[in-house]
Amino acid sequence: MRKQAFVTGAGGQDGSYLCEKLLAEGYEVSGLIRPSGDGRRYRLANCINSPYFKLVYGDIIDPAFPHILASKTWDEVYLLAAQTHVMQSYHAPTVAMETNAMATTRILDALFRTSPKTRVYFAATSEMFGTMQPGEKADENYQLAAQSPYAAAKVASHLLCRVYREKGFHVSSGISFNHESCRRGAEFVTRKIGLNIRNRGKVTLGNIDSCRDWHHAQDTVEGMWRALQMPTGDEYVFASGVARSVRDLAEAVCDYFDTPYKDAISVAESEKRPWDVDYLCGDASKAETILGWKPQISWDDLVANICSPEGMI
Ligand code: GDP
Repeated sequence: MRKQAFVTGAGGQDGSYLCEKLLAEGYEVSGLIRPSGDGRRYRLANCINSPYFKLVYGDIIDPAFPHILASKTWDEVYLLAAQTHVMQSYHAPTVAMETNAMATTRILDALFRTSPKTRVYFAATSEMFGTMQPGEKADENYQLAAQSPYAAAKVASHLLCRVYREKGFHVSSGISFNHESCRRGAEFVTRKIGLNIRNRGKVTLGNIDSCRDWHHAQDTVEGMWRALQMPTGDEYVFASGVARSVRDLAEAVCDYFDTPYKDAISVAESEKRPWDVDYLCGDASKAETILGWKPQISWDDLVANICSPEGMI
């Protein structure tokens, strides 16, 4: 019998890599995408023809969804669907709370009541550590301090996962620092820089001194899966442990295309976030010790990947 997995947010960057990973591990995979999300199906090109992959249309904020999910028994459920962009959450805070907090509440509760043996992964985020100072590295015990509606909603779900875990439910929360790839949406800075320099030779950015800890999304996905293979649920930081500025990233992309930085990069107030988190860097020692997890894709390979043309790689 193949293990049964359900992935919300299957059409996203992480969801598509995760569906591929689970199929390769011999699972039967159901992947949820929104009815309006057909434009994201291209990311599932490597899955769609598999007899073990099923595309499910639905929306995690539909009140009927938790009941549909809980009407079948799953071995593993991965909660990746979310309002994922920090800036968008300022513009639509209620959507962020509804999608990233309330929907998780309903789904966790439905699974806990009807399917207590199911293992659940929740995609938490480094944005929950919004008050880090340069030079620090955050592990799982770092203080939670949300600076955006996006992060506040993720903190709520992260704490809720703890509540259910303490009741004996196998739920893990992965605190992923920024993870990127050629499948990342163009509204994120990595892909914005990679695609604009490739296609136009220039790009206009906002807070270029912000620092982030970037690794490849395929590495995060490996961590997600490993977390659910453990005997009990837990919390894990997934990070590279190296902080780089947006300026460093832009320089690396310019080097990749052999384009002079001064001709390619400009900064505009209009691109700046009002309340940006200036610095994030993670300490993934726990994931390394317990899960044997470490990023496998180098910085140079990550840069090359975010500079790839549009499409499926
Ligand atoms: P986030 O860390 O999840 O918010 O991922 P993003 O890729 O959207 O942003 C990473 C960092 O890049 C943040 O500190 C942004 O303020 C900064 N940044 C600087 N210029 C830009 C830009 O033009 N677009 C975006 N999305 N971020 C930018």
